[in-house]
Amino acid sequence: MPDAGFLLLINISIGVLFAASFVGFSRQSKFKLGYWSAAGFLAAALTTLAESFAGILPSRLVSSLSYGFLLTALSCIFVGLWQHYHVGRVAALTLGFSLTALLFHQLVLIEAPRDGALHAIGYQTSFALLSLASSVAIVTGGRRRLVDISLCIVLALMGLQFWVKSWLAYQLTTGLSTQTYIYSQYALYSQTAAAILSLSLGVGLLALIVSEVYGSRLDRAFRDNLSGLLGRDAFVAAICDGGNVAQTWKSGCLILADLDRFKAINDSFGHAAGDLVISTFGGLLLKAAPSQSLCGRFGGEEFAVLLPEADLSTACEIATNVRHLLETHQFGFAEDTRFTVSIGITIYGDREPFSSVLHRADVALYRAKRLGRNRHEIDLPDQLAYADQSRGSARSYT
Ligand code: GH3
Ligand code: MG
Ligand code: MG
Repeated sequence: MPDAGFLLLINISIGVLFAASFVGFSRQSKFKLGYWSAAGFLAAALTTLAESFAGILPSRLVSSLSYGFLLTALSCIFVGLWQHYHVGRVAALTLGFSLTALLFHQLVLIEAPRDGALHAIGYQTSFALLSLASSVAIVTGGRRRLVDISLCIVLALMGLQFWVKSWLAYQLTTGLSTQTYIYSQYALYSQTAAAILSLSLGVGLLALIVSEVYGSRLDRAFRDNLSGLLGRDAFVAAICDGGNVAQTWKSGCLILADLDRFKAINDSFGHAAGDLVISTFGGLLLKAAPSQSLCGRFGGEEFAVLLPEADLSTACEIATNVRHLLETHQFGFAEDTRFTVSIGITIYGDREPFSSVLHRADVALYRAKRLGRNRHEIDLPDQLAYADQSRGSARSYT
């Protein structure tokens, strides 16, 4: 087999193996990124296959096929990443962009001289834009794990590579024929860079998919089945770094909620009814808490919500909302019976020991119980409590 045949086989195998791994890891998970990435890598393999027909099929057809497949590959990866990091859907918009680029290729680029600036820059621009847009999708997704940062850098480099390649191709190959370009030193470097970047992209995407699937499995294992929230251990582990509130949670507020007279619910309506109240309350907490907060079931009928970067008034608003949602919720097993919850609130500082944060929230919760239930109370760190009292501000809420 000639060398080119081996290279072709290797490139296609890499595409297919990555695609199979993406799908393999994504099966039985809720993540669609693996399927989009697999479609992208299969389309990239077809680009290589189309290019191998240069000299056999008409050059216009080869050019259109390889352009179309690479466009499809990068579009799939962009859509997959965007949908993974953001809630919005961009498939229709990306399809519109790709069809426009393809039309531009068919009507303008294909007619343009191969060694001209228009061909060099026009050909690579849509690839560069899609790669850079994928990188932006990660940056704006707000997650800063090593895997996100690495993938973002690879995609940004890919985008730059497409543009630098087009500019260099124009500078270095003006006046050269296609044949001499293919055997030029520049072509060797450019293809090596492209191969390294696409391998890095494959590894980066695989690392992201594996870490998401693994993370969600772990999450499910630590999630409390009844309420759908994190169990106590998982909640504390997610918050703490060596016993202190981890730096990622900055400063903010902690809410501790305990259902009122819950034992009486079990006694009057049965354990299943009590379970229903717990699971419903878990859903209400998730509804009332902002998306960046962390909710957990802390014990039997006790729940906690960590509100990073929230001030006391925001925490009080959320507590009021939670109490209102529960009080007005109609449970089929006990029409006209109101269920209530008492809540303790405290603020926490950057990297404060979690045990002292929890202690204050507990003190506030017990005050709420003592003062009659169905209310929220605040307990502040000593220095702040003094300042608060000297301003004479009220700290009881019903
Ligand atoms: P208070 O207003 O002072 O909080 O009173 P309470 O009755 O809610 O508190 P107490 O601690 O006396 O009772 C809590 C009850 O919660 C006792 C326990 O049987 C029940 N419980 C704990 N976990 C579960 C659960 O998963 N399902 C059900 N149905 N009940 C539970
Ligand atoms: Mg209780
Ligand atoms: Mg309790």
